[in-house]
Amino acid sequence: MLVVMSHDAAEADVRRVVEVIESMGYEARPMPGKQRTAVGLVGNDGKVDSSRLEGLPGVLHVIHVTEPYKQVSREWRPESTVIELENGTKIGGPEVVLMAGPCSVESEAQILEIARILRAAGATVLRGGAYKPRTSPYSWQGLGLAGLKLLAQARAETGLAVVTEALEPDTVDPVAEYADIIQIGARNMQNYPLLRRAGRAGKPVLLKRGLAATIDELLLSAEYILAEGNGQVILCERGIRGFDDHTRNVLDLTAIPVVHHLSHLPIIADPSHGTGVRAKVTPMARAAVAAGADGLIVEVHHDPDHALSDGGQSLWPDQFRELVEQVDGIARAIGRTLAPALPH
Ligand code: PEP
Ligand code: MN
Repeated sequence: MLVVMSHDAAEADVRRVVEVIESMGYEARPMPGKQRTAVGLVGNDGKVDSSRLEGLPGVLHVIHVTEPYKQVSREWRPESTVIELENGTKIGGPEVVLMAGPCSVESEAQILEIARILRAAGATVLRGGAYKPRTSPYSWQGLGLAGLKLLAQARAETGLAVVTEALEPDTVDPVAEYADIIQIGARNMQNYPLLRRAGRAGKPVLLKRGLAATIDELLLSAEYILAEGNGQVILCERGIRGFDDHTRNVLDLTAIPVVHHLSHLPIIADPSHGTGVRAKVTPMARAAVAAGADGLIVEVHHDPDHALSDGGQSLWPDQFRELVEQVDGIARAIGRTLAPALPH
């Protein structure tokens, strides 16, 4: 529930609303906003009797949030959330953000080479897994902490921000220490202890849609992170299971306008895992930007034939440069631009 205060409400009126909410046994979240000040009520698992709040001084009206998720909904916060990273990249505003990098960090030479290529091509965020969720326990599992340190080195040398996955709750703190964005992978979208831990880590979180998750389930998983007090969540459509085997997944681009309608959180698209096929990545990247994606996360490798994971869906650098040029045109056609490349 959301208690919307009138423009001339005094601070004491807001305090009073908070006190009454707390005396009812719930938690109050005051939210001073550009358009209005509101006080959110959380901790309820059903409809709340709002009669005690409606008559208080300064209260304009009370909104019962109708969706099962609260803090992620647009009813709760009408303005879009914009997440700003230390290197100036803004996610969720008018600019379309390019995140790119190898599936996994393999070596110092590999990550530095790719980071330099991507920076020059206009990406502002570097991706790369240090803790890899692999279907087979015998597949390459990533460099772990050493991989995080290499990502931090690539950031120091290029200025790119870093996004990388925390696979288990115990890896959230090291990822938060070395990276700018904590990635929660598709397989972990409903790992609630992991979501809670990420919600307390004090860093933006990239939450990928589960392989068979509905959009409401994705938003409820995001709600776990916001419920811990972290509003910096970026959602990611990365494809869901379908029945056709021409691609690895079905990249559900309808999720983009649906999420923008239901939620104030940014949503980006991953056409690499979404298709699993190199030749399909750029067409779906173009389509995602046309559908309104706030960014792309794309796998790129300078030597995909020898990549330790997902080489078959990784773009060659030249292909990534072409993708950037094409999505730039598409962004402009819909009144957006690409996030500016980092200054040299
Ligand atoms: C990844 O982005 O590295 C990854 C493993 O993707 P997903 O969780 O979407 O499968
Ligand atoms: Mn991958």
